Amino acid sequence: MKFGGTSVGKPERMHHIASLVTKETEPVIVVLSALSGTTNSLIEIGGLISKGDRQAAKAAIGKLEAHYLDFIAHLVTKPEAIDRAKAIVAEHFEFLNIILKISFSEALSKDILAQGELLSTKLFSVYLEEQGINHMLLPALEFMTIDSYDEPQIGSIKVKLSQILQQHKDTPLFVTQGYICKNARGEVDNLKRGGSDYSASLIAAAINASVCEIWTDIDGMHNNDPRIVKKTIPVEQMSFDEAAELAYFGAKILHPASIWPAQTYNIPVRLLNTMQPLAKGTLITEKAGSVGVKAVAAKDNIIAIRIKSSRMLLAYGFLRKIFEVFEKFRTPIDMITTSEVAVSLTIDNAVYLKEILKELEPFGTIEVDENQAIISVVGNEISQTEAMVKKLFGSIMNIPVRMVSYGGSPHNISLLVPAEYKGQILQQLNKGMFGLD
Ligand code: ASP
Ligand code: MG
Repeated sequence: MKFGGTSVGKPERMHHIASLVTKETEPVIVVLSALSGTTNSLIEIGGLISKGDRQAAKAAIGKLEAHYLDFIAHLVTKPEAIDRAKAIVAEHFEFLNIILKISFSEALSKDILAQGELLSTKLFSVYLEEQGINHMLLPALEFMTIDSYDEPQIGSIKVKLSQILQQHKDTPLFVTQGYICKNARGEVDNLKRGGSDYSASLIAAAINASVCEIWTDIDGMHNNDPRIVKKTIPVEQMSFDEAAELAYFGAKILHPASIWPAQTYNIPVRLLNTMQPLAKGTLITEKAGSVGVKAVAAKDNIIAIRIKSSRMLLAYGFLRKIFEVFEKFRTPIDMITTSEVAVSLTIDNAVYLKEILKELEPFGTIEVDENQAIISVVGNEISQTEAMVKKLFGSIMNIPVRMVSYGGSPHNISLLVPAEYKGQILQQLNKGMFGLD
């Protein structure tokens, strides 16, 4: 059971999740994020330290510490528990204050980021202890590891976790940190922003869990972006493939990488709402549940690149040469469409854009459109859905579509549009494809 930042962000929420996890009849591993806002603050603190602005960093550390002192004041009531919680807060903030005095490094910044999940899990443990709830803290840094390409080492995670669990067969409840891990150099590292979902899925896969529950503050994956479109509905069931497309193409509820471990080891994933524990949420399994369009999602900050060349005509090996440029700069391509004399593709990582464009130049005429959005329509066997294409394009006739990608998978149609049309197109698709106004 994984709980996100807002699910642990207030003392009363933490009390609430304690009641949720103790209702379980099976043994549980609880994976916690940092309290909401903490990782952002830690990033800010790291940034200030790296710039040498120690004064501002110290102030930010002080502010965050005050937040935690206020948090524990409402979390626990018994004197011993208060002392324990205060000691934990003191220990972690002392660490941050010591960092202020030593020279900054990349590794140190990861240590700073790890404090959030260490704090949330330890404080939750103090509360459970105060309540007399039998449990054990499971230090993620003892089993969660990534290799030199930042890929989780599922094999070794499995071995290490099962060793630890073997030694504690009678423990009904474990609490561990999401997000944090050790890297190939043995340093503290993390699974990138939002990575607690990934931790949960890796752990579920490693222990062959009966289910991986991701608890957030919304009742599952919705058919459209609830931040943009007023009326959205939760999707009851979808396949891993559909969930992967949606998570990758913008549904913020789930970290995109968190699908593959569950999918590979066939562990059902359930997206549930902490505020409405009885709501059905979304079940993600091998089976899609039903045929047809399930949801749309949008991904921002997309750059489209068009390479036009008469040399592409009847040539082979042309695409390989283009792809090699992106490979060289470790830049993933999201969407791709081709004609006989041109190819258009999109990227969302502009770090090496200049270098990429320079190397593409010899291939032909290059056009770049920045500030685009990918709108992804996701479902099961959507090509077999009656009048789907007609409905889709019929509802967005007034929108200038720059690219269309269809047929790459049976689960997805992607459209590229200028970002300023994102809200409008999501709204119109909500009406045209789901009949929701
Ligand atoms: N605390 C981390 C973050 O904010 C990881 C997570 O919440 O999933 O990105
Ligand atoms: Mg998250």
